[in-house]
Order: sequence, then C-alpha cells, then structure tokens
Amino acid sequence: MSVTVIARDQHNVSRKLMSPNALKVISRLNNSGFEAYLVGGGVRDILLGGEPKDFDIATDAHPEQVHELFRNSRLIGRRFKLVHILFGREVIEVATFRGAAPVADGKSHKQSDQGMLLRDNVYGSMEDDALRRDFTANALYYSSKDFAVYDYVGAMADIKSKTLRLIGDPETRYREDPVRMLRAIRFKAKLGFTIEEQASQAIYKQASLIESVAAARLFDEIIKLFVCGKGEAAYYLLREYELFRYMFPAVTHTLDRHNDRAYYEKFIVAGLRNTDVRIQADKPITPAFLYAVILWPEVDRLWQKNVQSGLPEFPALQQASQQAVQDQLPFITIPKRFTLMMKEIWELQIRLKKTSGKWPHQLIEHKRFRAAYDFLLLRELAGKDLNNLGNWWTDFQKKNPVPARTSEHRSGPRPNRKRNNRNRGPKPA
Ligand code: ATP
Ligand code: MG
Repeated sequence: MSVTVIARDQHNVSRKLMSPNALKVISRLNNSGFEAYLVGGGVRDILLGGEPKDFDIATDAHPEQVHELFRNSRLIGRRFKLVHILFGREVIEVATFRGAAPVADGKSHKQSDQGMLLRDNVYGSMEDDALRRDFTANALYYSSKDFAVYDYVGAMADIKSKTLRLIGDPETRYREDPVRMLRAIRFKAKLGFTIEEQASQAIYKQASLIESVAAARLFDEIIKLFVCGKGEAAYYLLREYELFRYMFPAVTHTLDRHNDRAYYEKFIVAGLRNTDVRIQADKPITPAFLYAVILWPEVDRLWQKNVQSGLPEFPALQQASQQAVQDQLPFITIPKRFTLMMKEIWELQIRLKKTSGKWPHQLIEHKRFRAAYDFLLLRELAGKDLNNLGNWWTDFQKKNPVPARTSEHRSGPRPNRKRNNRNRGPKPA
C-alpha cells in the first residue's frame, strides 16, 4: 500500500494536545537534518479525542546520533535499541525506523522455532517501520514540519470505525510476539475498539502462545491491562479468550471448579472495578493490591484446605500464601517487594478480626492497614459473611482518625506512569 497523506485541515491532530517536550525533540531532530514523527498511541489517542499516555517518536536518525543530540538522553535495550530522552519525570521514547524481517540472518533478526522474534534491530524506511507495527491504528505518523498525518496501512478508516486490525497475517504476527494478543485486549477494553474477525479468531486459536512470553514482561503487561482504567472489562476479555488461564493456571482452576467459584469470580471483578474507580478518581494504586486480589481465590482455597487438615488458622494462611505465590511465579515474575505486601494484606485478614481491647488501635497504625481494610470490604461485597466486620472498621476509623501517614496503599506511585523498557519485547517504536 502506498502512503496517504492527510493534510492539516483534514484531521484534528493539533500540537496543542502534544507534549511540548515531544515537539522539542522532533524539532531538534528536524533541524539537524533528520526525519522525525510522532507515532503510535500519541497520534491514535488524539485522533480519538483522548489524552495520550505517552509520546513516542520515530526517526531515521540512528540511536547513537539521537543520543549525541540530547544530553538528557540514554541508550537503552540490547535487543531493541531505543533512546530515552528525559525531561524531569517525562520520558520521550525515540526509535529508529525499523525494517522488515524477511531474512533470518541470525544476526540482526532472530526467530525462535515457534516464529517468535528474539532480536530485531534492522533499520529501514518509514514505510517498513509502519508495516512492522502491531495494529493499523498504531501506525500513523504525524509530522510537525508539514502538520500532516502519514498513513501507510489504511489506519484512518480503521480508527473511524474503531477497528483493531493487525498489520499482516494475524497468526504470524501473534507468533512473532504473543504480547500483541494482550495489547489487542487492552485496546479493545480501553478504547472500545472491535477486534477484526481474523485477528480475534487467531487469539482463540493461539492463546496458549502467551506461555512462551518471559515472565518478567508478563508482569508489566498484566499491570498495564488492569490499570488501563477498564480493568474489569479487560478481565472478562482475558477469560473469554482463554488468555487468563495460561497466565494464572491455579487461580483459573479454582475459578472454574471450586464450590465457591461464584463468590471468587465476584471478588475479582469487585477488586478490578474498585481499581477502575480509583483510577478514574486519579487515586494511586499498587500492583501488590491487584495481585493480592487476583491470587486470593487460590490463597483462600488453600487456606481452607490447610485448616481442614488440622493446621491452626494463622500458619494455615501463611502456608497458603506462600504456596499460591510460589505456584504463580513461574508464569509471572511478581517482584519480591510486592509479594511481601500481598502476604501482609492477606495475613491482616485474620488480624482484622480482633476487635477488642488495644488491638484495633495498634492495627490501624499498620502500614498495610488501609489496603487490608479495602480488601476486607471487597470480600464482603462479593458475598462473604464476616459478621459486618467491614462496617465495624469503618465506624472505628471514623471515631479514631489516623494521620494520613499510614495510608501506604494510597500513597505509592502510580504504576505504569514511567516507562520501563527493560523487559520489553519486539517493538518497533
Ligand atoms: P499506550 O501508550 O496507550 O499503551 P501505544 O500504542 O502507544 O499505547 P506503546 O507501548 O507506547 O503503545 O508503543 C508505541 C507504539 O509502538 C505502538 O503504538 C505500536 O506502533 C508499537 N508497538 C508497541 N508494542 C508493539 C508490539 N509488541 N509489536 C508491534 N508494535 C508494537
Ligand atoms: Mg505509547
């Protein structure tokens, strides 16, 4: 397909909606004789009337050349060389146009036996770069030289009809990078797009490929899914497309088979809905709380089992927490600082039952109290009968206000604000 140039008076991509830093980067590259465009989610979201989460730039300058032009930049990625330009907390990602990957010369392109792209550093033209992106909607380029949008893949029509269409053959593209299946789910949930039929069928067919994605990268991708503001919708889609079970096999087993499965399902949904509301209200959330929610069905099941086999309540829960985390780690690398927090939230579910004497006054000072209390409310909301314990704690807090310091659950940084590319897979931008 040849390029369609959409002139400035035929689209609504205005510089006013862009990060001034991104524009600075583009103009400095342009002034040094390079091509440079805003690309990907930045252009897509502005066309959709939304607010881009971050700004990516594509250029014909090589990473080293970009690095030389910006003192505040660093070269990152071994497999996929990129440049990050830092402006305080904002990171502008600059990627060199990448070429197609037809010949596996074993050096710059590398594929696994399953067709997964392992290395991908061949530079190419702007058109090559467009064709290597995932969805058409993500392959538009905006130039601040002529203010036009460049479309090589029929992206404009797909954005208008809100269609997520993979560029090229869906099965092949998912095989190259199975994370694209999760990206499809995220964009469908978040932007309300429809996944084009073939691209949708290919997910049902190849969902199991997600098992081959590095566990550390899956941690990042799962967080992105659940903090996109539409986490509840994303969860339903992950279940529907059977992607969830390849990432959370033990939890899925419990959700599908256990006598309390309806309660567990409600609990997870309530937790994700609660996260969506918090994000809407611009409140911070921590991955620890999210993972504590998602793994809870398994922790709870094991806890009950351990109690039935004679262990006292607390060690029974401790052992259950330990095992549930251990069983999950091969699939998704949850960093230790989060698993420690998750265990605290779970174990506090027992301590929250002690409502007499000095206990509640001590507990309310616990740095994980707030998260554990929210967690308790979710359990009740999903139908667990805890004798109105949640209400008791709500009243208690009203009568005994605690300085803001303890609300750790609320004061953590919002995940996914800063870009971390260390665990990223093939990505041409
Ligand atoms: P958002 O930033 O809202 O999550 P995005 O589309 O900008 O969405 P990024 O992860 O920022 O996503 O990536 C920027 C661009 O890089 C994408 O729009 C797409 O063109 C390309 N891209 C990212 N990940 C992949 C991938 N796995 N395969 C192919 N292209 C990708
Ligand atoms: Mg982006």
